[in-house]
Amino acid sequence: MSAAAQPGFKARAAAELSNAALKVAIERTTGNAERKRAAAVAAFPEFDAARERGRAIKDHVIAHLDHYLEMFERNATAAGAKVHWASDDAEARAIVTRICLDADARLVTRAKSMLGEEIGLPHALADAGIERVETDLAEHIIQLAGERPSHIVWPAMHRTREQVADLFKAGHHPPPAADDPGTMVQSARRELRAKFLGADVGISGANFLVADTGATCTVTNEGNAELTTTPPRIHIVTAGIEKIVPSTAHAFALLRLLVRSATGGELTQYTTFHCGPKRPGDADGPEEMHIVLVDNGRTRMLGDEFREMLRCIRCGACMNHCVVYRQIGGHAYGGTYPGPMGAVLTPVLDGLAASRDLPHACTMNGRCAEVCPVGIPIPTLLRAWRRRSWRAGLENGVPRLAIGVWAMAARRPRLYRLASRVGVRALRLFGRRGWIRSLPLAGGWTAYRDLPRPAGRTFMEQYRANQAAKGARR
Ligand code: SF4
Repeated sequence: MSAAAQPGFKARAAAELSNAALKVAIERTTGNAERKRAAAVAAFPEFDAARERGRAIKDHVIAHLDHYLEMFERNATAAGAKVHWASDDAEARAIVTRICLDADARLVTRAKSMLGEEIGLPHALADAGIERVETDLAEHIIQLAGERPSHIVWPAMHRTREQVADLFKAGHHPPPAADDPGTMVQSARRELRAKFLGADVGISGANFLVADTGATCTVTNEGNAELTTTPPRIHIVTAGIEKIVPSTAHAFALLRLLVRSATGGELTQYTTFHCGPKRPGDADGPEEMHIVLVDNGRTRMLGDEFREMLRCIRCGACMNHCVVYRQIGGHAYGGTYPGPMGAVLTPVLDGLAASRDLPHACTMNGRCAEVCPVGIPIPTLLRAWRRRSWRAGLENGVPRLAIGVWAMAARRPRLYRLASRVGVRALRLFGRRGWIRSLPLAGGWTAYRDLPRPAGRTFMEQYRANQAAKGARR
């Protein structure tokens, strides 16, 4: 489907709102994540101090990004890896496919990486005629379903167990003997095992790039990253340049925040540092290691008001706590990154004109900023996008007219008070039995919710009346 023919955000969100199975799937996963995170934070009294430290580490590396990236390149090269620089998604795709084609690769295994999605790697590999096998269990599910991730930590969280059972029955050979989780996991393991051992190239992402050793760090709970990166002859890492940290100790300081915020655990089952390819005497490991460092808009963010977004460690806590995400799920957002962090990042990656609805898909309740382990003020950044959208003339029709009228009145106190008095009294005319069920020019609101009938007096009138009553009582 061409971009022009794609349904917009509002149409996608409306479709997801009526998807009952999606609600069940989201609530099971995000509800669980919310409870586990709360317990993990409560059991870690130093969480606030750790958060401040994490924020300071990220701010420091962002301020000295060139220094640490050069240090990383020097040390990774000294360890035997080859470092490539990609200024955008097209260049990153081209580098990865070129390495695969030069190696005559027919089968590529891939460990979960949102950066890979961001640069469009799955399509690029398919276009190059290379078989791609996703090895993360959730990514395996969405590969069978022909879908994109709907969450950055649980890519298949929009699928219920019953739906996954159907996918495995159709896509596994032989199909699983039963649809309990244990049997289904065994079936996926059997399907993937031969692929792990037969792959020519393994592609992974990186949670951290360690500058003073040149190592890349991945964290998983399934061990699939290790099986993706060790048996094949070539290992390719794709990573955003903001993943850099000065040292292993800094990586662990951030890991303590990442895992608690993502899954409520203390550490993931597997935390692996890859430092160069196999050395003489090593029992196993790839013969070549390539690291593709991707900019794709990140240096642009360094110099503008979205700089703080570069602190993001991709834990997913903001989406687990977002009232909008929990209603519509991740696919409705349309970009690579869903939820609150996606609403900030997608306009950077895809342009504001193509994603101008996303910064508005927010109630500004501030939960995302409260739970963010590196203190990113997401509502402030969303407001910055709204401001830009307004100034660029992207808001049009009734919203632009209404906000323009409101702004004009808000600068004239007398007019504002008069308009409020008239407005409150006029609104009462639409109310029946205490509720307003439909309003002219505000059908988008009243289509989904009833508004309480106003009290008949403005806030200022009520305030003055209360003050007068208090004075009379004294
Ligand atoms: S914005 Fe914060 S909460 Fe959201 S994914 Fe990034 S680090 Fe996690």
